[in-house]
Amino acid sequence: MRNPVPDLLDEVRRACVDGDEGELLDTIPELADADPDRFAIALCTIDGTVYGTGDDEHRFTIQSISKPFAYALALADRGRESVLEHVGVEPSGDAFNEISLEQNGRPRNPMINIGAIATHALVGEAGMSRERRDVRVREGLSAFAGRDLEVDEAVFDSERSESSRNLALAYLVHAQEKLDGEPHDAVEGYIRQCALLVDVRDLAVMAMTLAAGGRNPVTGQQVVPTWVCTQVLSVMATCGMYDAAGDWMSTVGIPAKSGVAGGVLGSLPGQVGIGTFSPRLDEIGNSVRGVRAFERLSAELGLHLMHAP
Ligand code: GLN
Repeated sequence: MRNPVPDLLDEVRRACVDGDEGELLDTIPELADADPDRFAIALCTIDGTVYGTGDDEHRFTIQSISKPFAYALALADRGRESVLEHVGVEPSGDAFNEISLEQNGRPRNPMINIGAIATHALVGEAGMSRERRDVRVREGLSAFAGRDLEVDEAVFDSERSESSRNLALAYLVHAQEKLDGEPHDAVEGYIRQCALLVDVRDLAVMAMTLAAGGRNPVTGQQVVPTWVCTQVLSVMATCGMYDAAGDWMSTVGIPAKSGVAGGVLGSLPGQVGIGTFSPRLDEIGNSVRGVRAFERLSAELGLHLMHAP
């Protein structure tokens, strides 16, 4: 029998490609030059088969989609208690770059910038140099993807030149004694983490690795322990789509994370990993076509987590 997945992906891409709603991000100068019409979808199954459609080999910076993976590495390296002392797990309902702290000074969760910067600083051992931490982050995310990921130095420089807001967030966490290390180091490392280049096929494999309890289905490597994935997917489900997280959970029903370069990653435990890319963003910072493609795939394939089979 003919495999229905490639046709389904093509169909979803065609159904979601029309229209030019949404805007390119304008806060990172280098990203404002992206081709707004690009569109790609990829899906990875639990046996490691990857299907793609559209611009599925076009590379873009991972941006905030790196956050759940850095969180996974921090949990694996420091343990759950130690990470929870620095960063919470409650949805903020605020924009991704908001000042969002709990009463006790902890950033609310690791999916918004303020929590992601604190989380980045927890990857590796305490007191590790920034350079060694950068290597740990790059190698860790590469293990999730199953290939060596590289940094887009132009995007890194561009974002570094506009980093006052992220620096302000880092200083706030530092003032609350919730930052392990120096604000400048944490922000530079975090921005390098966001500038790693991926395509949608990488996102699909990274998502499937999380959904498979930490075992990369392509390379067979156990990247992080299974309990780490349970924690990360829970936080993605409640906080991954920023202030649209509740709406997303009710319509799409897949733990997910978006990035401002236009990527979206969805990870359905035990079942499937999905990546989409299209640079035009809605007012919250989520890819317009990416959201549409996920809504459609979830409906067509019956992927909603709360859907009784
Ligand atoms: N690097 C971006 C920032 O720090 C990531 C934001 C995002 O993808 N939402 O602003």
